[in-house]
Amino acid sequence: MSAGIQQDIDLSPYNSFGVSARAAWFMALEEREDVELAREFAARHGLPMLVLGEGSNILFVKDFPGLVLQVANRGMALEDAEAVTVQAGENWHDFVTQCLKSGLYGLENLALIPGKAGAAPVQNIGAYGAELEQFLLSVEVCDLRTGQWQSLSREQCEFAYRSSLFKRAGLSAGRSGEAQWLIFSLTLSLSRQFTPNLSYGALAEVFSDKAEATPQAVFDAVCAIRRSKLPDPAELGNAGSFFKNPLISAERYHELQQQYPGIPAFAAEPGLVKVPAAWLLEQAGWKGKRRGQAGVHDKHALVLVNHGGASGEDIYLLAQDMSNSVLQRFGIALQPEVRIL
Ligand SMILES: Cc1cc2nc3c(=O)[nH]c(=O)nc-3n(C[C@H](O)[C@H](O)[C@H](O)COP(=O)(O)OP(=O)(O)OC[C@H]3O[C@@H](n4cnc5c(N)ncnc54)[C@H](O)[C@@H]3O)c2cc1C
Repeated sequence: MSAGIQQDIDLSPYNSFGVSARAAWFMALEEREDVELAREFAARHGLPMLVLGEGSNILFVKDFPGLVLQVANRGMALEDAEAVTVQAGENWHDFVTQCLKSGLYGLENLALIPGKAGAAPVQNIGAYGAELEQFLLSVEVCDLRTGQWQSLSREQCEFAYRSSLFKRAGLSAGRSGEAQWLIFSLTLSLSRQFTPNLSYGALAEVFSDKAEATPQAVFDAVCAIRRSKLPDPAELGNAGSFFKNPLISAERYHELQQQYPGIPAFAAEPGLVKVPAAWLLEQAGWKGKRRGQAGVHDKHALVLVNHGGASGEDIYLLAQDMSNSVLQRFGIALQPEVRIL
């Protein structure tokens, strides 16, 4: 057995739902050389590979029969604002905090999003009117199928709302896992000049006096709003928003408006409207519902929670019933934001 590769590992400490699942094999990747070792091992034993960050956007419904690669490479280069680099194994919020301390601005609205930096491009993380793609210049990746290393530009990452080339590759692999891309580092373009992004309603309310919107104040406000709204996975297992906000045609939206005059919407691409999934689920009566140890958060209908001891299957079945009820009532199919494995 290769050094550093462990057998039959409990994944419950490695996913923010805290559900039990076992990995047949597990390895922490600290250096580029580890990637080749992992590839050789997986090829020799015919194992699928799964890339894992902090498991804050994953629901394990069953055991993983292959090799889990935990991304653990560390380091940040913060000297050049126009090319700030972070290694994939760094915690995202630590990186945002370090940027702020170093006078590198732009990421304040993305503070406190759980997970590692390497996972940030996967679903093009976004919050409070900002998205990673606004800052990303390139990612250094290894194609795990061929072992080839390359740098992908922002355009090559094919970013969209909560999506990217990497997320789509994961979806097409299905529940089997089977990773293609390993993101090893990210390079971002930040700024020494601070321009607050107060496009999101809740932030605009806090900073009615724009002069108060310093980088630290915006960062603190984002952290405070997030803490007041979202459960801390360390206290209550969850993966943040379980479903994406669905995009529907403007025509369909106007039809729904006749029936539900209060239905909210955000602007999206031309001809499309984004409807908050939380509103749809709340209307369908899901907020605060509980089924055994799996449940829906009492402040946020989009957040599924593990009250302690729920299995991945319990949470998955609850999520399925939630999306079925929205389909029946509104004719809208919800897509999970969380990766189900
Ligand atoms: C309380 C809470 C709040 C959240 N709020 C937000 C939010 O506001 N906005 C938002 O966008 N998300 C949010 N999320 C989701 C989550 O924080 C992000 O998706 C985050 O980027 C996941 O990071 P991770 O390291 O935990 O990834 P994981 O859950 O470990 O992995 C997620 C996916 O990325 C892949 N992956 C991970 N690392 C790599 C890598 N280095 N290379 C290639 N693939 C990789 C995995 O295979 C998997 O498919 C929230 C989650 C929680 C629990």
